Amino acid sequence: MKNVLRLVLIGFSCVVIFSVALQAQHEGETRPAAILGFATTHVAAEHRLESDFQAIPSPEKAREWHKTFTAEPHPAASERNNQLAEFVAQEWRKQGWEEVTPRRYDVLHSKPRSVSLEMTEPVWYTASLREDAYEVDPDTKNQAVSGSYFGYSASGDVTAEVVYAHSGNPEDYELLRKNGITIKGKIVLVRYSNPYSYRGFKALTAEREGAAALLIYSDPAEDGYARGKVFAEGPWGPESHIQRGAITYDYIVPGDPTTPGWASVPGAKHIAPEEAQSLPKIPALPLSWRDAKPLLENMNGPEAPKDWRGALPITYRLTGAVKAHVKVDMDTSLQPYTVVEARIRGSELPDEWVLLGNHRDAWVFGGVDPSSGTASMMELTRALGEMKQRGVRPRRTIVACSWDGEEYALTGSTEWGEQFADDLKKKLVAYLNVDESVAGAATTAGAEGLSFSPSAVASLAPMLIEASKEVRAPSGKPLYEAWRATSMRDAKAAKPPADSALVEMRIGSGSDHTVFLNHLGRPVINLGFTGDYGVYHSMYDDHYWMEHIGDPNFEYHVALTRIWGVAALRLANADVLPFDFGFNATALEEFLRELEKNNKIDAHRLKLKKLHQYIAEFQKAGDGLREAVERSLAAGEVTPEKIQRLNDQLMQVESNWLEPNGIPGRPWFQHLLYAARYTYAHLEFPGLTEAVEKGDWKLAEQQSEVVERALAKNTALLNDAKTSWERNKQ
Ligand SMILES: [Zn+2]
Repeated sequence: MKNVLRLVLIGFSCVVIFSVALQAQHEGETRPAAILGFATTHVAAEHRLESDFQAIPSPEKAREWHKTFTAEPHPAASERNNQLAEFVAQEWRKQGWEEVTPRRYDVLHSKPRSVSLEMTEPVWYTASLREDAYEVDPDTKNQAVSGSYFGYSASGDVTAEVVYAHSGNPEDYELLRKNGITIKGKIVLVRYSNPYSYRGFKALTAEREGAAALLIYSDPAEDGYARGKVFAEGPWGPESHIQRGAITYDYIVPGDPTTPGWASVPGAKHIAPEEAQSLPKIPALPLSWRDAKPLLENMNGPEAPKDWRGALPITYRLTGAVKAHVKVDMDTSLQPYTVVEARIRGSELPDEWVLLGNHRDAWVFGGVDPSSGTASMMELTRALGEMKQRGVRPRRTIVACSWDGEEYALTGSTEWGEQFADDLKKKLVAYLNVDESVAGAATTAGAEGLSFSPSAVASLAPMLIEASKEVRAPSGKPLYEAWRATSMRDAKAAKPPADSALVEMRIGSGSDHTVFLNHLGRPVINLGFTGDYGVYHSMYDDHYWMEHIGDPNFEYHVALTRIWGVAALRLANADVLPFDFGFNATALEEFLRELEKNNKIDAHRLKLKKLHQYIAEFQKAGDGLREAVERSLAAGEVTPEKIQRLNDQLMQVESNWLEPNGIPGRPWFQHLLYAARYTYAHLEFPGLTEAVEKGDWKLAEQQSEVVERALAKNTALLNDAKTSWERNKQ
């Protein structure tokens, strides 16, 4: 999945002074640069270990992995995807990983028996619902490629008038209503983006508006010829490309829709599908623009407003004269999914885990999504396995997972997270997710190359920036420099952003990090490169695209393996866990100011002054602790017992952001700082923000108090940690 619109952050105003260690460049100096969280005596060994690690991944190997994983379509529950689960398990055993375990879940799955779409008036037209083959790319002739369908669409047979509803967001229906157009019982045709919203949000919105069926098409304005050269010459989507996908309401509760909040282990209780909150109730289909065009150009009603028009050479209209027949027959039944799990046991702290993961299932071949990530992961596990064979074990345990059914409802990771919730809450230091490692075309990216576009919880952003100085981008520059350059380019700014604005710290949903962050309260990082990419979830997202257009040298795949590995090794080997809560607080202050800027707040009904104060106190405590820790680590004056106590406290800070009752209306989402909107967009202070946006001041006040309490608890914890850290200096 993972197509959440990336917002470029500019003008992040607060000035943040990172530790001196972060600024230091270790090349050319005799003393190696300090590393966040490492005692001075351990720094040189960590640098050596990281450079040994970085020498292992190879572009040619990444290309081979990619070729294997993209050889056949491998959606969840398909025979091929299950074979690939066995393949991953086998390879991980060969690579030297321990306790390689396939975990099976029996989940409610959804696949098409038959689908069809005809225009019945004013002229007859039968939609192909298929993608064209291309001579240069034999994979496009593979008979196993599916046609058009949406995961978890309802079954149904509808003949009705067609209405064009722009992007299918609530304001679009508002505009239709103003024009006297009702959509009750009609077929709604919407386009994918402009502005972007997750297709499952479009489905829920259409259902709430009373539509009888939903069609979503890819307008060339967004991912086709209006953007540049199309497949097979360029990265954008050709006329027949179809963006498949799921339309699950997994922003309410992800995972198997019939086991909300518990794991679908074999034999688990399932609720009836009719009771499931996350299942759509109307039939829906994705369309290529070629299949949508006859419906649009035969309308004769009022012209659509300017910003509703796409790039097709037609007059876009709201409705009129067009009737269609949509038939969707879905097979919905329990199917086995497999999560493959493996670990390298930590030499000193086996009960502290650093988790790495990527999903395996793809809508078709998965050239970008997810097999670019899978190729990067298999190189990462190979390199870490080889280090282990050489006798170099991480201090903490590294766990790797190959998720299943991410494309359906983030299913494999959610079920696994729910199954091992108690362990994960205690032991998981951080989860490092890679969905698409290379979602862009190096061949059209220009001199600066593809954009490195990670996201991370604010407490881990400084660690990630520091790690990026250790890795080379394909251009040969340090990744950190390449990252600054592409950030500046993408923001059309005159100078690179401050370090404090480099990492995207606003985290939405749409990939496997969701359960760990939002349900279990563990910190997460998402990594990937991005650029021109218009074949998402279509058959053209394949090996040919990657090899000829995306990453012909597979250098970006390997660069991603390296930054993923260096970040993982730092988390696994650090003396003190590299969480920066002072920096975290500056991000929270920024989030709160955004909330105030974006909303008219009734100052008589809601006062946020106290919340600002609590954040300021949390910042003071975080900065104070960080400085105290840096001083003692540099001076080498700490005992293992002290470090252990401190790390337990740091882990607890992240856990304290969890509110067991969840956010109002969505009990599964328990993080007080992070959630996702129904569109998958990021949402900070979710309970508070949603209450403010509704103008429910009483609820907003309650939610503000809940956040204040968590901040107070964490401020006390950090102050306490500093006191005991500084007691009895040795
Ligand atoms: Zn994906």
